[in-house]
Amino acid sequence: MDIRENVDLSAYSTMRLGGKARYLAEADSETKVKNLVNWARQRSLPVVMIGEGSNIVWRDEGYEGLIIVNKIPGIKVLSEDNDSLTLQAGAGEIWDKVVEWSVKKDLSGIEFLSRIPGCVGGAPVQNIGAYGAELGSVLVELEAYDTNLNKFVTLASKDCAFAYRTSRFKTVDKGRFLITAITLRLIKANPKPPFYESLQLYLDEHKIRNYTPKNIRQAVTEIRKIKLPDPSVVANNGSFFTNPIISHAEFERLQKKYPDIRGWPAPHQNLSGAVGNRIAERQVFGAGPRDDGRVKISAGWMVEQAGFKDVHDQQTGMGTWWGSALVMINEKAKTTADLLAFKQKIVAKVYEMFGIMLEQEPELLP
Ligand SMILES: Cc1cc2nc3c(=O)[nH]c(=O)nc-3n(C[C@H](O)[C@H](O)[C@H](O)COP(=O)(O)OP(=O)(O)OC[C@H]3O[C@@H](n4cnc5c(N)ncnc54)[C@H](O)[C@@H]3O)c2cc1C
Repeated sequence: MDIRENVDLSAYSTMRLGGKARYLAEADSETKVKNLVNWARQRSLPVVMIGEGSNIVWRDEGYEGLIIVNKIPGIKVLSEDNDSLTLQAGAGEIWDKVVEWSVKKDLSGIEFLSRIPGCVGGAPVQNIGAYGAELGSVLVELEAYDTNLNKFVTLASKDCAFAYRTSRFKTVDKGRFLITAITLRLIKANPKPPFYESLQLYLDEHKIRNYTPKNIRQAVTEIRKIKLPDPSVVANNGSFFTNPIISHAEFERLQKKYPDIRGWPAPHQNLSGAVGNRIAERQVFGAGPRDDGRVKISAGWMVEQAGFKDVHDQQTGMGTWWGSALVMINEKAKTTADLLAFKQKIVAKVYEMFGIMLEQEPELLP
C-alpha cells in the first residue's frame, strides 16, 4: 500500500488552503479501500474519503488520520430497454466525463448537471444540483463500504435522504459510508420544459428549440463559463452558501423592506428532484399561491446587496467572483483562518441587513 505521510492538503481542495494530512493514500479498487480502512483501524486512526476536493475546506490544523482519495474508475452499462439505460460509474470517475458519456448517447437525466467539478463519489454526498435538476432524481442505488458494519453495502436512492444540497452522507451518517460506485437510470428521450429560468432565457435568446441533451449541455456549459471561475485557474469551491429556505411570513416581511427580492416555492417533498425543482423555479413569487408555504431565496442576491460582488479583500486575501457574488475566491489567502474571517464579514453583513444566517455549502473538514 502506497501511503504518504505529512501531505500538504492545499493540493486536495480547489480552494487551495489547509494544513497537512498525517497519512494520505489513493484507492482504485474496493479491495484497496477495505485494506486501507483496516490499516487505519489497526492504528486507531480516523478515515475520510475524498474525490477532487472541489467541495472541501480543510482546517489549518490539518487531519490527524488517513485520507483516502477515491480513484475507482469505470462506466458500464448494467441494463437497457426501449425507454431507458441503467449505468454504473466508479466513484473515482470525473463526474463530467459521465455526463459527457451519457449525452453522447442522447440519454437524458444528468445533462443539466454538466460541468460540475468533482468525482462521481462526491456527487451523492451533497446531492449535486444545478439548473433545476438533482442527482437524487436519477440515482437508483449506490455501493459503499459501511465503516460501522465493516462491509460493503448497497443503498437504494430512497435510503440516501436526499434533499436540497444534502443527504444522509452529509448529515446523520457523515463519514460512515465510503462510496465506491453509483447506479443511474437515464431516459432515452429529450428533456421537457419548463426549464430553469436562466437556462430557458439562454435557449430562447439563441433560438434553440430542439431540447436535446446535447443542446442542453452546450447551453449549461456556456452559462457556467460566465458565472463560475475555472478552479484550475482561480481557487474556489463554487457557490459558497446555500440558498436559504424560509417561511412565507418571513418572505413577506423581507418583501416589504426589499421589494426586489425574489423567491421560489421551495420544492415540496413529493415534488423534489428535477421535475419538482423545474416547476418550482418557474413559479417566481409574487405571482400566486404556492405549495407548502416555504420559500427559497437567492443567497447570491443577498450577498450582492450586502456589497460583496467582485470584492477583493486586502486584509484576508480572499474575494468574491465578478460573475457571481456567491463564489468566494482565494486570491492570496495563506490560511483557512483568513477564509473564515472573510466569510464572517459576509455572513454578518447579510444577517444585519436581512436577519438571515447564511449556511456554508462546502464542508469544513474534518
Ligand atoms: C467551480 C465550481 C462549481 C460548482 N458547481 C456546483 C453546482 O453547480 N452544483 C453542486 O451541487 N455543486 C457544485 N460544486 C461543488 C462540487 O463540485 C460538488 O459538490 C462535487 O460533487 C464534489 O465532488 P468532489 O469529488 O470534489 O468531492 P470532495 O470535495 O472531494 O468531497 C466533498 C465531500 O464528499 C465526501 N466524499 C467525496 N467522495 C466521497 C466518496 N467516494 N465516498 C464518501 N464520501 C465522499 C468528502 O469526504 C467531502 O465530505 C461546484 C464546485 C466548484 C469548484
